[in-house]
Order: sequence, then structure tokens, then C-alpha cells
Amino acid sequence: EPRACGTGDPRGTGACHEPAPSLVDVAESSLLNKLIHTSLVESRHHVEILQKDPNSPLFSVKTFEELPLKKELLQGVYAMGFNRPSTIQETALPMMLAHPPQNLIAQSQSGTGKTAAFVLAMLSRVNGAEKYPQCLCLAPTYELALQIGHVIEKMGQFCADIRVTYAVQGNRVLPGALREEQIVIGTPGTMLDWCFKRRVVNMKRISLFVLDEADVMIDHQGFSYQSIRIQRALPRGCQMLLFSTTFKETVWNFAMKIVSNPIIIKLRQEELTLSNIRQYYFVCRNREEKYEALCNIYGSITIGQAMIFCQTRGSADWLLVKMSKDGHQVAMLTAELTIVQRANVIQRFRDGKEKVLITTNVCARGIDVAQVTIVVNFSLPVNQEKQLDFETYLHCIGQTGCFGKKGIAFNMVERQTTYLMHSIEEHFQTQIKRLDPDDMDELE
Ligand code: ADP
Repeated sequence: EPRACGTGDPRGTGACHEPAPSLVDVAESSLLNKLIHTSLVESRHHVEILQKDPNSPLFSVKTFEELPLKKELLQGVYAMGFNRPSTIQETALPMMLAHPPQNLIAQSQSGTGKTAAFVLAMLSRVNGAEKYPQCLCLAPTYELALQIGHVIEKMGQFCADIRVTYAVQGNRVLPGALREEQIVIGTPGTMLDWCFKRRVVNMKRISLFVLDEADVMIDHQGFSYQSIRIQRALPRGCQMLLFSTTFKETVWNFAMKIVSNPIIIKLRQEELTLSNIRQYYFVCRNREEKYEALCNIYGSITIGQAMIFCQTRGSADWLLVKMSKDGHQVAMLTAELTIVQRANVIQRFRDGKEKVLITTNVCARGIDVAQVTIVVNFSLPVNQEKQLDFETYLHCIGQTGCFGKKGIAFNMVERQTTYLMHSIEEHFQTQIKRLDPDDMDELE
């Protein structure tokens, strides 16, 4: 029972040969990550600075007070419950708020504080007393634009005069009726329309341009072109900030087209490794036997929380019923759920309200669900050619054993697919021990 390869390659390693994921898929997982990262993702790494103008000194800050922020903004920061800048903010904020303005390209994983940083820059740069757009911000979808808007509202709650408007499909404007809001957030197509066709924004007066989720943007051919057209019409000296969660070659090329003379900062991601994850496999004849093996695992070790990956909605449903009947508190994550529903399921699981999370492959798409005690591959992630998707395997079982913790992963395979276990061993230079469902002493 092979599990289909998801979007395959959330970390940009090129290991999966599935068709490129659609904008919707990528934007969805991005939004989902935003919804589930309700607090900061800490990093053990330092910020790397890749390129900088030797004439501009760099400094980083440890407190928000050290930054040139208006009183109302500092109040907003504290109202959000922020005590000190995150790792990326320590370096990015002084650059973003510097005089003269500096251009910046910043890359770090979701949840590390990029949005909060550029929202602070936007609120800090615009003048609330002036009633015209001064800052443009591009995002790949309406939902993502709205997320940014929410952060602006919250962080800017004490900046009474600053207003936001959304250049998104369906938000109609009268041609020539100039907008009065200081910040315009929108998707590239509608933003282009507002700026060039409807002429409700005077581009010449824009002093800050922010492009968020550059890696999602470039998955949509039209978006890169439209973003570049907007950028070209901005006045000299307009500050440009570009953000991305990944840094593939293509993102890099795009970023360099959009942002001139940038400082580039990067925060390395916690590396997924298998070294602290014990891996086992069972050879089973059918899903009943797989289920027996699962019960034996529960009978032998104490399990805090478990994540179980299935190939199809059908087998996920089947397992859900089985486990619920056996008294487990089980939640399920499937593609049919809306983003908000999915975020809720993940949040509940993270809060420990359910001890088991069953998921179909939607979940493996670049989303960090939680740190769990065990991961079970009820079926292995393979692509249509029945080849193993190593990246997804790594990502799935990486949900256990994060941040140096010890994790355990179990794989259920049919006899004829046992060879897949060996290919994983070879690929990752690791060992996966076969377990006998009737003799779990090995697990001790
Ligand atoms: P990103 O844009 O990199 O995904 P966000 O800016 O959305 O990250 O931040 C992720 C979460 O962390 C949000 O819930 C945000 O409110 C919170 N956060 C951001 N900066 C800080 C900070 N300095 N201190 C505490 N929490 C923060």
C-alpha cells in the first residue's frame, strides 16, 4: 500500500520527481504554517550575512528599545507579547529601520519572525498624517495578504492614523480615485491593476516595497513578471525588502532581479537528521496485520503522542475507526479539510487534546506538525513509479526526534516491498531493524 508522493520537495532539494506543486498547494501549506505557528520557532543557529555594502556598518540589537521606534509602536510590540527580538529580528530590524534605508533579502523558515519584522518596518516608515499610500506589500494570495493585515492591525493598534487597504481580486476601486491608506497589501495582479490601470496609487510616492513569500511567488509564472513590473515603476531610493522561507536557485535569481544592492541575511534551518531516530520495520501481509503490529507497539512502550501516515483517505478512515474503538483519542488530518480546520486539528494535537494524529499525505507537505514520541508509516511514501520518496520519508519521521530529542519510527511494509527498507538504509546510511510483531523485546 504505497503512499503517494506529496508536493514532494518542501525543502527544495529536488529529490522528488513529481510534477511541480501548484501555487494553491504551496500557498496553502504556507498559510497553514502561519496559522499553526502561534509562537516563535526558536533557532539554535546564528544569522549568516551573505552580502553587504562595506560602507554601511552592521549591528544587531538584543532589545526593542535599542531600535529607533515610535512610542506607539513599542507599545504595540509589547501588546503582542514580544519581550525581545527573535534571532532573525536581531539582525534584520536595525537594517530595515536604518537611515538611509537599506535593501534587504531575508530567508528563514516559517515562524521565525519575518512578518512581525517587516510589519514593524512598514508601521515605522509610513507617516500617518499623510493620506496617501507610502508602502506596497505583495503576497501570493488573498489569505496570506489578510494574515499580514491582521498583524498590522494588532501591532499598529496604538498608531491611530495608519490605515491598510487590500489590492486583491474583488476589492473594487473607482478609476482615478486615489487611495488614502498608507499601506497597500495585495496580490501582484490586482496591485498592478491598481497602480497602472485604475491609477489609484501614485507609485512615485512609495517609499517602501515589501515582497513576502518570494518562494511561493515564483511558483506562479505571472507573479514574478508582475512583481518585477511593479518594482520597475518604483522611485529611486524606495526601500525594498524581500522574504522567503526557502532559498532555491530560482528564488535567488528572482530576488536579485527585484532588489538592488541588498544585504542578504539567512537563518539556517534545524537540520533533519536520522541519527537520533531509532527506525524499525514490520513485515505484514495486510492492514489487519499492520494494525496488530501497531497494537503491539502500544502494548510494549509508553507513547506520549503518535503520528500515523496513511496512503489513502480510505485507510486513514479505517484506522481511525479501529483505534477509536480501542479507546484511543484520535484526530485526523486530510486534504478534504479547509485550511482553518486543518490548523485547528494540528493545534488541538499540539495541545495534547488528542494523542494520535492520523494523516494522509497532505500533512507531509512542508508542515511541522509537532514533536511526537513515535511516527508510524502505515504505508511508505512512494511516487507513482513506486520509487521511494526519500525526502518525504525524512520529513515524516523527522516529526519525531526534533531538536536532538530521541525519536522512534516504525514502518509497516508488505513482503514484496521489503526492499524499500533496504533502499532507505542505503540512501541515508542508516539501520532499520526488523521487528517481529510477536516479540517486541527488541524495543527495550
Ligand atoms: P514568519 O513570518 O517568519 O513565519 P512570524 O512573524 O509570523 O514569522 O512569527 C511567528 C510567530 O512568532 C507569530 O505568532 C508571531 O506573533 C511570533 N513572534 C514574532 N516575533 C516575536 C518576538 N520577537 N517575540 C515573541 N514572539 C514573536
